[in-house]
Amino acid sequence: MHRVVLSLGGNVGDRLALLKQALNLLVPQMQLIHASGIYETAAWGGNSQAPFLNQVLVMQTTMEAEQTLDFIQNIEDVLGRKRVLKWGDRTMDIDILYFDRSIIHTDRLQVPHGQMLSRNFILIPLTEVLPEEKHPQIPLTHRELLKRCEDRLSVRPWSDG
Ligand code: ATP
Ligand code: CA
Ligand code: CA
Repeated sequence: MHRVVLSLGGNVGDRLALLKQALNLLVPQMQLIHASGIYETAAWGGNSQAPFLNQVLVMQTTMEAEQTLDFIQNIEDVLGRKRVLKWGDRTMDIDILYFDRSIIHTDRLQVPHGQMLSRNFILIPLTEVLPEEKHPQIPLTHRELLKRCEDRLSVRPWSDG
């Protein structure tokens, strides 16, 4: 069994419903161990404008890493992701933050996720679910990495009330 930590986010359509649908599509192949709360993040940059909802999920699976990537990319497609602009608006983006404590560098896969240390919208929900865990390549906990992160984009707990 492998432990996979996923980052989910989207800024198009019914963002909350899409996060729930993504989880429903994940669970046939993966078991949910822990879900962070949902956060709203100002558009990160690049080509997107509308704010995102973001969440981190800790899952278990018997799939290997590449197979997991195929599986989550298929879910992005099912949820209507159009691959137009890098960092553009999207209904659903699912990234693999960790796959066990493996370090993977292939054409298709960089694990741990290369940009996670510079993004509060990843580090905030990750610290919520795994505060004292250390990054596999850096001797610091998520809590410490979050404290050091210089990202100043607004990330706040989301409520639809
Ligand atoms: P970023 O990687 O900066 O978050 P993005 O998520 O917008 O950008 P995408 O267009 O969703 O980028 O994905 C581009 C490619 O990134 C995918 O086709 C996939 O092969 C590759 N990739 C590399 N590492 C990972 C990872 N850890 N999780 C998901 N995709 C990855
Ligand atoms: Ca991403
Ligand atoms: Ca992605």
